Amino acid sequence: MSGIYIHIPFCKQACHYCNFHFSTSLKYKDDMVDAICREIELRKDYLIDKNITSIYFGGGTPSLLSEENLDQIFNALSKQFNWSAETEITLEANPDDLSAEKLSIFNNSPINRLSIGIQSFAQADLEYMNRAHNAEEAEHCIKNAQDIGLTNISADLIYGSPTTSDETWIANIDKMIAFDIPHISAYALTVEEGTVLHHFVNTGKVKPVDESVAANHFDILMERLHSAEFDHYEISNFAKKNHYAVHNSNYWLGVPYLGLGPAAHSFDGVMTRSWNLAHNPNYIKSIQSDKLPIEHETLSTVDAYNEFILIRLRTIWGVDIKDIESKFPDQKDYYLRNIQPYLASNHIVLEDDIYRLTNSGKLIGDKISMELFAE
Ligand code: SF4
Repeated sequence: MSGIYIHIPFCKQACHYCNFHFSTSLKYKDDMVDAICREIELRKDYLIDKNITSIYFGGGTPSLLSEENLDQIFNALSKQFNWSAETEITLEANPDDLSAEKLSIFNNSPINRLSIGIQSFAQADLEYMNRAHNAEEAEHCIKNAQDIGLTNISADLIYGSPTTSDETWIANIDKMIAFDIPHISAYALTVEEGTVLHHFVNTGKVKPVDESVAANHFDILMERLHSAEFDHYEISNFAKKNHYAVHNSNYWLGVPYLGLGPAAHSFDGVMTRSWNLAHNPNYIKSIQSDKLPIEHETLSTVDAYNEFILIRLRTIWGVDIKDIESKFPDQKDYYLRNIQPYLASNHIVLEDDIYRLTNSGKLIGDKISMELFAE
């Protein structure tokens, strides 16, 4: 069982909050696709198990890919890897790209899941974030995708923006429920250094983000999606039964994955991570001369333990003490000592040897993880 991630580093315009790797110049798009296909050949032996359970096109904005671009990538993948109709093949899409023609291209390709960057159905939110789409496109794209038969949809939402009132937030969630979307990812708006939003907040051009508003929105989100029978299977991810994202779950459960394209990360499933250069022209140039622009890191046992805690505590699978015993025996006493205060404060519950966050714990999940980190 293995996964493949493909990073498409282009966007039509820069969202003000975003610190991902992308370029708004599409000049190198076709060269990039050539380079990604060459990287597929160069790294065909990275995954020991060539049976792929998930292929994920992330970005950036993969919905900018043309039919020819997609054909080229799928042809290159099919020469080196095995996948079946059961393989989850997701493409991240932005609403403004989802014309009838584009949806039909995706529907006629191996793609069987769309992850749509809706973020909000409210125009004021979209303008604050500098999204390329408007409120009308946010609604229409979901309906058009469903009408054509693309019903396996995940939609992203962002909460906690100063433009998002509680009423707006409730309306956003309820609209998703009404559309019968089977998977929702929801993130608090964060102000990352180096972003336009960071600059605007620092210079007083826009209102700052209030953490207490975000916490309240998160509470509303959990309550409404729980009532609508979504499983809260990771802090930021909610799904109907049988719709947990294979791509995300693979990552959280430590399945090996190969990351292709600039800035893409890979994991060998044991102790080594690697990541590609986050620079489009230099990535292309390096691949054209058959040199992999990659850096590696071998995790120490302590790093691996910390990462295990950080990732697993966020998920419905929680931290099983048997895993700590078998993988990190030296950390067991430390873990048991440091988890006690959170059991006492009901931020964590223990059931059948598995420690999981409660709803109040989910609000401070990262803080709890940090308290459990070993040095
Ligand atoms: S579309 Fe996505 S990757 Fe591109 S700038 Fe916006 S948030 Fe970032």
